[in-house]
This record gives sequence, structure tokens and C-alpha cells, in this order.
Amino acid sequence: MSDPALYPYFLGPYGENDGLLEQLLVEFLRDHVYWRRNLHPEDPPAIPTMARYRPDYQAFESRLRQQLHQLSAALKRSVPFHSQRYLGHMVSDLLLPGLAAQILTLPYNPNNVSEEAAPVTLDMEREAGMQLAAMVGYAVDPRQVPCAFGHLTSGGTSANLQALRLALSVKCYPVALRAAGLPGVELPGSDAEAFMLPMEQAIALFCAAEAWLAGQSPRERRIWRRRIDAERVEHLGLAGFLAAHPRLQTPVVLAPATAHYSWSKGMKLLGLGRAHLVQVAERDMRLDLDDLERRLADCAARGQPVLMAVGVLGSTEFGTIDPIDGLCEARDRWAARGLGFAVHVDAAWGGYLLSLLRNEDGTLRAADAVGREFERFPRPEVHAAMAAVARSDSVTIDPHKLGYLPYGAGAFLCRDRRPMELLAEFADYVFADSSALPGSRLQHLGRYEIEGSNPGAIAAAVCVTHRVLPLDAKHFGRIQAATLSATEAFEDLLTEWAPRLRERFAVVVPFRPDCNLLCIAINPAGNADIGRCNDFMQRLRRRLSIDPAAPKADRSFFGSTTTLRGEAMGQEAMAALLRRLGLEPPADAEDLESTRLTVLRHTLMNPFLLDEVNGINYLQRYLAWLEMILPEVECEWSSATATGSGVH
Ligand SMILES: *Cc1c(COP(=O)(O)O)cnc(C)c1O
Repeated sequence: MSDPALYPYFLGPYGENDGLLEQLLVEFLRDHVYWRRNLHPEDPPAIPTMARYRPDYQAFESRLRQQLHQLSAALKRSVPFHSQRYLGHMVSDLLLPGLAAQILTLPYNPNNVSEEAAPVTLDMEREAGMQLAAMVGYAVDPRQVPCAFGHLTSGGTSANLQALRLALSVKCYPVALRAAGLPGVELPGSDAEAFMLPMEQAIALFCAAEAWLAGQSPRERRIWRRRIDAERVEHLGLAGFLAAHPRLQTPVVLAPATAHYSWSKGMKLLGLGRAHLVQVAERDMRLDLDDLERRLADCAARGQPVLMAVGVLGSTEFGTIDPIDGLCEARDRWAARGLGFAVHVDAAWGGYLLSLLRNEDGTLRAADAVGREFERFPRPEVHAAMAAVARSDSVTIDPHKLGYLPYGAGAFLCRDRRPMELLAEFADYVFADSSALPGSRLQHLGRYEIEGSNPGAIAAAVCVTHRVLPLDAKHFGRIQAATLSATEAFEDLLTEWAPRLRERFAVVVPFRPDCNLLCIAINPAGNADIGRCNDFMQRLRRRLSIDPAAPKADRSFFGSTTTLRGEAMGQEAMAALLRRLGLEPPADAEDLESTRLTVLRHTLMNPFLLDEVNGINYLQRYLAWLEMILPEVECEWSSATATGSGVH
């Protein structure tokens, strides 16, 4: 079951590919030095060869070495993300192409804020964006409209913020056009109507206005542009913009209850306020389309504008996949009824799973073709949700999660690049040259991105990785396939394991995994109290979590926990789960809603969990180890809780 194609992909759990990495690093460090020497070979060395014999040189070197040794020693206390024993958070080994490309690029230190500071890696960032856009199914031919666009960010948080910013900009623009009284373009009849336009119509209006402006004399164009800009939310601020249009309300963002906290951060940063982040109920840990529908109907009835509906592809805590297809259908249906909003897919975690859905020529693989390799993946609704990402308005994907690349690599993608111009930091977004394609001036990325200076080395890492391992099922998809197979194997192991423990522990998988995250709930037999069960799990967690002070070898395995919440699971599902665990569900509906249950959370990202070379199944070993420590933890727990000194 382990895939030999993956052997050269990583440094390896044992550092197996050290020879390759070392060779590459030495080769390209030398190459960099030759580049320095050959820029102007007539310039002599400024640092004399004999400098190294100077006492101050030697003192410096000794201090440097001492500090590096200290750092290197301290780093041994790092979390062993590369190990098959690490089943905790969303990180694993790093792909060799990315690691090598990043280290190779570092001494050149390109800054992707603009082409001037990054003649090479800025193009690579644009390429990486388009590679990801093609993977999600967006159209990427710049001769066509719409054509997608993508750029890298520091992470998913910043990409989500960029999505909010773009949607807000597009939403407010038609209102600004009305306020400016732009002639020559057919404008919506009222502010409310302008504010409720579907994304596509708002973008069309923006393009029509730009086309009209392009036909004016430079002087006229300047005047009109100044008038429009004076009415834009970017100029007035959200408070000023709404004050200027008293009939408009702050738009809301609809997101599932377990959405990542970056959404709350984004609402605060944009001045939308957390009160306008509306939690859509979940059913079985996935966004509940019925509740979404109710909330949209409520917004429509109250004239409440909606900025965006967020769907999550691979939730941070549970790996569950929201019905993106249903979200896009809701958007289209409500657009026809005059309630326009954007659909954003937060695929920070699950984005790269989409590589499994692509053939080498970029076409979509049908569910049965994808499923041939697996026992259960992808369930039909999961395939439908993943295929529908192509119909969303924007997407967040983190190369530093399932892309196996170093931290500092997120990505923002949008299906239509034209409105990106609204984010430009200077308002000279003129399509004056009619041969210039919309969005063709996106080379000054720093004017559109939230970040200013940002590392070109990361862009090189992402782009080179995607070139070596194209984002299709034959290449990058193989890594994802290995992790999904491991998850299915883990599920199978659990169905044998749980009954064996029944006498002493109730073990339940609380919901079917959609991808490669799997949670397990455990309760000591005979315990009916939820609080005591959580206390037990906290004690178990301590055996699995990183102790910053301790050497790492004292942990046999590394895991993490999370909390299931009644409001996210739904009351019925929560009550059923509690009963299966032998726990007493609260009689009161309100109490059931607010029930919190701690569970083990396993991120199965390591591609070598099923090591057939040595005949080791690390998941089996993990369960054997759990089986060994569970009675110990129970012993500690029952004596502590009997004397009333529970952990809190
Ligand atoms: C990780 C994650 C984020 C935040 O991304 P960062 O890279 O940590 O900023 C947002 N949404 C989801 C679903 C995530 O998993």
C-alpha cells in the first residue's frame, strides 16, 4: 500500500534522501557564488583572503558557531513533524523540491512586492497562482473572460482576508458609481438594488464603467475617476460609506459555525464587526443548507445585504467538507431573486485534495474514476462538493498545509481577475491601452496583496514543486491518495479495535471522515458523566501532546484533541453519540446544544504511515500503544476524580 513513487519526494522520516538534498544544496550554493563572482569579474574581492586569520574575524566566527550550535541543540526540542509517529496537527514532512528551491533562492533574496525587486520569482508566484487555479477548475486562459487569478499570501488567514476585501470592494462599487452619477452606463435604480447585485453583475458594471472611461479624453477621465473614487468605500471607510447611504445596512457574512477563527479576525479588520459574521448551523459537522436557506430568506425579507457565504473544504478541526455545490446553487438562485453574494471556499486545509480530481490534461475525473483506488473515498456528495469549487467566486488554499511546503505559503484565488483592479493601491487602473487585457497589469503584486515585501523564495518553492509534481492525480495526487488510503486503513482497524475494548472503554468514531482527518471519542465503561469523560480525555491528551521541556523520544506518538460542540453536530447527532459512548445526554435542548465533548483528533498526513518495506503499520502500532496506556490513564483518572481533584 505504500507507494514507491513517493520515495524521492521527501527528505524522509529517517533522512533517507539526505544524499540527494546535500548534493543539491552544495551544487546550488556554489552556483550562487559563481554568479556573484561573474557579475563583474573585474571587481576584485573586497574581503581579503587572509581576513580569516585576523583575531576579530576568529572571535566573530567563534561566537557565530557557538550560537548556531546552541540553536541546533535547542531545535532538537522541535516537534518531529516528519515522523510517522506524529498524528497531531496539519503538518508533516516537507517536499524536497520545495525545500531545495527555497534554500537555493534564499541567498538571492528576491522580494515579490514588485517586478523590479523580483524579476524571476514574481512570475513564479503568478504561475503558482495559475497552477492552483487550474487545479480548482477555474478557467486560466488569459485570452478568455473570465480568467482566474491567484497570488500567494503569508497563509490562509491573509487569503481569507483578501477574499473579504475583494467581495466588499465589488459590492460597494456600483453604489459609488451611482453616487458619482456616471453617465454612459446603465446604473441600478436604487442604492439598495446596487448593493444587492450579484458579483457577476457588479463586475460587469465595473467593466462597463471602465470601458466608458477609456473612451473619454484624459482630462475627462481624470475628473470622473476622482468623482468615483471620492464615493468608494476605500476612500470613505465603511462607516463613512454607510453614513452616506443611510438606507444601506452593514452586509453580513454567512459561515458555518466551526469556521476558522481567521473569519472573525477578518470581520474585525475590515470594520464589518464580528456581529455581522452569521453562524450557519451544521448538521453532521457540515454546513446545513436548510439553515443557510432560512437565513438567506430572512436576509431577503429584511433587506439585509449579504457579502459572502463561506464553505469550508476540509475543516480545520474535523476535516469535513461543506456542500460547496449546494452553496453555489443557493447563490445562483438568490441572485435571480435580487440577493447577490459571493461564494468563497476556505480550502486552506483541503485544497490540494483537488489534485485527485484532475486528469493530466486538466479535465475533471469522475467520482468512479477517483474512487477506483479507494474503498470509500470520495462519497458522492464529497465529489460533488469538490467539483463545485470551480463555480465559486474565490478560494483559499494553503501550500504550507496539504501542499507539504514550508510555512509562509498561503494562496488566494479568484475566478474572475478583472475586479482585482479595485484593490490596487493606486487608482490609476486605466485600461487606456485597449490592447491591454483586463488584469494584465497585475505584475505589481504588492499593490494588490495585503502583504508588502514578501519572500520570493517561497514563490520559487511553490512553483517549482508544482512543476516537478503537477497538480493532477498522477503526480501530486499520489501524496493525497496515500494519506486517504491510510485514513481508510485506520477506519478499518478501528472497527476491529473498538469491540475488543468494549469491556473497559467505549470507542466511537463520531462522524465519517470526508478526507484525512479522523476523530475518536473514548469513554471509560460505566461513566455516564460528560464532564468526567472530558476530564479523562484531557489526561489522555497529556500523554500525546508535546511537552516543551521534555525530550521528544519520551512520547511514543504525538496527537491532538479537539472539542465537538452540540451546536455544530446538531442535537440529535450529539445525543446519539453520547448514548453510544454510554454518556447521559442532557434532557434540556439548550444544554444539549452547548454540550462540549473532547475527542482525539488525528491528522493523517504522513505518506509513510503504512510502511510495507519494513512491514510496519504505524496506525496499528498507535492503537496498540493506546490500548496499553488507556488503562493507566483510567487508573489515574478514577483515583483523581474519586478524590474530587479533576483537571480543568
Ligand atoms: C489553517 C486554516 C486557516 C488559516 O490559515 P493560516 O495559514 O494558519 O493562516 C483558515 N481556514 C482553514 C479551514 C484552515 O484550516
